Amino acid sequence: MTNKISIKFLGAASTVTGSKHLLQTPEQNILIDCGLFQGIKSLRLRNWEPLPVNVSEIKTIIITHAHLDHCGYLPLLVKSGFKGNILMTRPTRDLVEIILRDSARIQEEDAERANRYGYSKHKPALPLYTDNDVEKTLGLFKAYNDKKWITLSGDIRFRFTKNGHILGSCFVEMECYNKKIVFSGDIGRNKSELLQAPEKIDSADFLIMESTYGNRLHSNGDVSEELSSVINSTIHKKGNLLIPSFAVGRAQELMHMILQLKLKLHIPDIPIYMDSPMGADATEILTRYPEWHKLSEPECRALSHQITIIRDWHETEKVIKKKGSKIVIAASGMLTGGRVLEYIKHYIINKKNTVLLAGYQAEGTRGRALKEGVHELKIHGKYYPVHANICEISSLSAHADQQEMLDWLRQFKQKPGKIFLVHGEPMALEAFRVKINDTLGIDTIIPLQNEEHTLFKL
Ligand SMILES: [Zn+2]
Repeated sequence: MTNKISIKFLGAASTVTGSKHLLQTPEQNILIDCGLFQGIKSLRLRNWEPLPVNVSEIKTIIITHAHLDHCGYLPLLVKSGFKGNILMTRPTRDLVEIILRDSARIQEEDAERANRYGYSKHKPALPLYTDNDVEKTLGLFKAYNDKKWITLSGDIRFRFTKNGHILGSCFVEMECYNKKIVFSGDIGRNKSELLQAPEKIDSADFLIMESTYGNRLHSNGDVSEELSSVINSTIHKKGNLLIPSFAVGRAQELMHMILQLKLKLHIPDIPIYMDSPMGADATEILTRYPEWHKLSEPECRALSHQITIIRDWHETEKVIKKKGSKIVIAASGMLTGGRVLEYIKHYIINKKNTVLLAGYQAEGTRGRALKEGVHELKIHGKYYPVHANICEISSLSAHADQQEMLDWLRQFKQKPGKIFLVHGEPMALEAFRVKINDTLGIDTIIPLQNEEHTLFKL
């Protein structure tokens, strides 16, 4: 039996997506997060490769939050023989269920479309997993409240601590053979209208930390003002405003902010649509967990009563063709798939319209291409010229920026012994590593894909 505690980085190492960190201990192997790779093709292809570990030796999986790049690989792991428990918070469980079902549906539909129109090189094109695989995965879920210590073995226990990123999202604070290992998951912002600020952590011998905005600062301006100015200028041009958004988390905060602007008469009374069956479910889940967010019950109810929520895809076509300015929030947030693509096809070719990028756009996604000013966008095998106004409000993002992450690190009573930076593109990782070294003097490492590091020996 091994006497060392080590960590193997199976994803989100030198890239943003595919979070999978395997903690190997003498008693059991624990996988923290189990996400899909998204973005450029070479990354997406990694989802098809078997993991370089013996899946049957993984006993427990802990999920930090419900985004696809943190939970979307679960059905594949179950398909390849995982039979242990999958632990997460109660709101995360509800959200992961809808996210995985949606993911399976999109993959099944994409495979079907590719086979019908013959644009896939694979014959036949196959989905990564199906709803049936998701069903088997759900049977392994165990859900918990935050703050409570959960025992995994005689020498290992952990607890979930809120990190302010999306509903249900948490840090994982683990005590492992008398050392403390902390996994940050995705760290939220201090000033969210929907969620409490990330909680303070006292100490960590080892910290596995995200770095999405490791080299960026969000604007200091008033985010509601920026949002109302984008909405008003679009209405002035008699155009439509399309906001691609993660259906879970971001969408609900955006809906709340836009409703507040309407109530305060900062924007005219134009129709607002949330086009995503998953977004509709996520909004409903918000009302189930009042202790996990800041909205009052009437504010929650307003989200589903004062915003038209589109579930049926037949309605999408009607909304697109409806005359007059409107605001549409639709998933996916990085334009990798989903209903938002139908809107983009129609709206992007008209200069009256605006596309507002409200979240992180990973390398290789259509969202990133738009942000970088491409002149055309390829969707379902066809090219669409970009004439609409493309704008970005990065402070709408659900991720802390460099300053907020440094401030969070500064509140540790005892500085982390060693930091492993994950979940960032190479430039962000390197800039953040240097900054942590210079300002806090903490030993900071950027692990590579499939690299294994010994944390300590018994
Ligand atoms: Zn996330």
